[in-house]
Amino acid sequence: MIPYARQSISEQDIEAVNQVLRSDFLTQGALIAQFETAVSSYCHAEYAVAVSHGTAALHLACLALDVGVGDRVWTSPNSFVASSNCALYCGAEINFVDIDPKTYNISLNSLKQKLIQAEVDNCLPKVLIPVHFSGQSCDMKEIKELSKHYGFAIIEDAAHALGAEFLSEKVGSCLYSDLTIFSFHPAKMITCGEGGMILTNRPELAHKMELFRSHGVTRNPGLMTEKSHGDWYYQQTLLGFNYRMTDFQAALGLSQLKRLDDFVNKRQNLAQRYNKKLSVLSKLLSLPWQNSDTQSSWHLYIIRLNLKSLTVDRKTVFDHLRQSGIGVHVHYIPIHTQPYYQDLGFKQGDFPESESYYNEAITLPLFVDLEEEQVDFITQTVEKLLLKFSKQGDI
Ligand SMILES: *Cc1c(COP(=O)(O)O)cnc(C)c1O
Repeated sequence: MIPYARQSISEQDIEAVNQVLRSDFLTQGALIAQFETAVSSYCHAEYAVAVSHGTAALHLACLALDVGVGDRVWTSPNSFVASSNCALYCGAEINFVDIDPKTYNISLNSLKQKLIQAEVDNCLPKVLIPVHFSGQSCDMKEIKELSKHYGFAIIEDAAHALGAEFLSEKVGSCLYSDLTIFSFHPAKMITCGEGGMILTNRPELAHKMELFRSHGVTRNPGLMTEKSHGDWYYQQTLLGFNYRMTDFQAALGLSQLKRLDDFVNKRQNLAQRYNKKLSVLSKLLSLPWQNSDTQSSWHLYIIRLNLKSLTVDRKTVFDHLRQSGIGVHVHYIPIHTQPYYQDLGFKQGDFPESESYYNEAITLPLFVDLEEEQVDFITQTVEKLLLKFSKQGDI
């Protein structure tokens, strides 16, 4: 089976990890700071805080902004559950904004309408979490303008978008946000096995997240409430977590980062090949639409079926592709339709664009070491299937 995603590990990556394993420090050594500096320089942000997971990064980003009981956080339903769970970890109330039918990112029209209504009802959000779905940035300039007018903070969920650009600046620059988070899960742009990072240009947020990452404990005399008792001394000043990354994870991330631009190029070329080969099926499916202000990192390549022109549903097409050895996937089940979220009061029908997108979407395999011949096999299989299932006269 051709997987939908797969990490690319080189001999250099393996050697980088081996070196740490032979060294004195497996965790809290020098590699974490090096990795943080490398990512923040790459993205042109001032500060970076490495953590154990992208999910931990979202949690700490919320905590840095003092998200708590009585606060409201908004995101879009077309994401992984972590994008909204982070607000619930903090005791805040979560709500969603429907997606744009072309980019599958948060819809700016829906966002504007919801903000106008929320202002009337006195229930504006404290934080908005735009998700750069599939690696294409949201329109951050517009979102930043809205944040100034309505007074909310912004956390970019860029788990898909390391290496992507918005208006010729790297996603992660935080030019249009307070914080940006990345994930280093093996399916994402670069991997540490597991890992995450938060970028920001606001020093006070970075320092708070460093505390939260490690139990809320400090060894910095400047942050203590009384004189040090001695060399062993530390103080806990807030209730933190153990969200630390290990040094061998950081070594892997640092080594992978060197190939990030190459990874993005390869993904871009494969996506173009998909686009070219699938363009003959334009009546039967939509190809990934790209906003000219953005350069996608191409984390995911998604086709959207035109079910009106087909005699079968998405599941039938999906199952046939799996039977042909193509490890297709679906991103995402709208978060608000998950049982846990239905128990919070959300229902089917609340965010119709996310739901109709969900019924039509298929993620085709896309990863750095996917071969052009495999893309050709996949596109030929998709073409044969869709022609077989197309309604007469609709080709
Ligand atoms: C992967 C992912 C996360 C969570 O990252 P982990 O490193 O797996 O914890 C958050 N948001 C989105 C959009 C993701 O795809």
